[in-house]
Amino acid sequence: MELKNKIVGIIGYSRTGKAVAEFVQKRGGKVKVSELSSSRELEKELIEKGYEYEIGKNSFEFLKDCDLIVISPGVPSKSSFVLELEEKGKDIISEIEFASYFIESKIIGITGSNGKSTVTSMIYHILKESGVEATIGGNIGIPLIKFAEENSEYFVVELSSFQLEKIKKFKPFISVLLNITPDHLDRYSNFEDYAIAKFNIFKNQQNTDFAVLNIENEYIKNNLNTIKATKVLYSIEKENVDIYTKNNKIIYKDEEVLNFSDIPLLGIHNIENTMAVVGVMKIVGLKNSEIKKGIKTFKGLEHRTELCGEINGVKFINDSKATNIDATYKALISFDSPIILILGGKDKGGDFTVLNDLIKSKVKKLILIGAAREKIKKQLDKDIEFIEVNTMEEAVRTSYSLAEKGDLVLLSPACASFDMYKNFEERGRDFKNLVKMLKKEIENG
Ligand code: ADP
Repeated sequence: MELKNKIVGIIGYSRTGKAVAEFVQKRGGKVKVSELSSSRELEKELIEKGYEYEIGKNSFEFLKDCDLIVISPGVPSKSSFVLELEEKGKDIISEIEFASYFIESKIIGITGSNGKSTVTSMIYHILKESGVEATIGGNIGIPLIKFAEENSEYFVVELSSFQLEKIKKFKPFISVLLNITPDHLDRYSNFEDYAIAKFNIFKNQQNTDFAVLNIENEYIKNNLNTIKATKVLYSIEKENVDIYTKNNKIIYKDEEVLNFSDIPLLGIHNIENTMAVVGVMKIVGLKNSEIKKGIKTFKGLEHRTELCGEINGVKFINDSKATNIDATYKALISFDSPIILILGGKDKGGDFTVLNDLIKSKVKKLILIGAAREKIKKQLDKDIEFIEVNTMEEAVRTSYSLAEKGDLVLLSPACASFDMYKNFEERGRDFKNLVKMLKKEIENG
């Protein structure tokens, strides 16, 4: 796409918006930034960069002369000014769509409610280990547009539902859909809208492209016929699919690829994630030995069922990235030891009653923290006891004081972190530091 002398509107000037603005300017286009927040520093930056801007508001008037408008993933696409722009014929696209106009490599797109970052990183790691040229980007950290000029064989791209909302021509060579379970119901009016956004990943695929799909997920199973790409199905329950499990092994079309013991990550959900990865690697054409070697050497990501300490036989697991209910559900079913669960944070509109049975069977003590406490208390079965705490330090100390050798203290909040922290990373680090401090304190008597 030629950007010279084009007027490109950018809605939202944060990490993604900034990257798009720089790219457009570099290619000779004119940038118009519309950003809801406002501050002196922001204004100074926009002036220095030479962008036209409106701050403290988003208006139709300001953007109406743009040739193209790129919306940042943090901006709700159903805002009235967005709808007005669209009604009046303006082209509004996501950054992913925009970046794809400049990318010639094959795209491996990964989406799902949970597991995206893990699977994206694992795929990237295995490709690199096997000597395949690859670039990683998208929702995992760095906006895709920053890499648009790179020339790898594969672009491994994590995609959130927000990024998939405004897709027109974007077409991955391989799409991976790990699961769809309720999440972000504070932004979507219902589950169906959220699921439709996720399914946009398949919108432009043809049968020469591929879709790697978890057939155990109800929504995916019920909507398979809308996908035109060649399907590679995996299941942790059934054997009549492309990738399945048998005798603690992952099998691809009757050929053994690896043992569960080759997977260095905790939890059943990570067996499912690895199956998706195997599907991708088979399409790419790697040998089983390469796939196995790559998986074995993958380190796992911080804050995802991460073993982060042990004090007198009590293990501590940091699962701060469990910001929705299904992630916590998966963590709970993954461990056999008695669990002391730290639950709560900022509610995202989910239904905590889903956890009741598991809490009864697996959780020895339940510690509630954060702004969602009141809602969680209302949704817990009457016979579930809990302890309320106000700080993470209190949560860690209380958990340890209640634990016995062999127990597991699990921070898996099922909520976002914004009530107490800047993000889930800060929450996870706080938890880990507190565990470290407590360990020192105890060891020093
Ligand atoms: P995402 O990028 O989709 O948020 P992550 O890999 O960062 O996914 O993991 C987020 C949370 O979900 C973590 O708590 C992790 O343990 C959990 N998780 C990872 N994979 C799955 C899966 N396949 N199903 C359910 N939960 C998962």
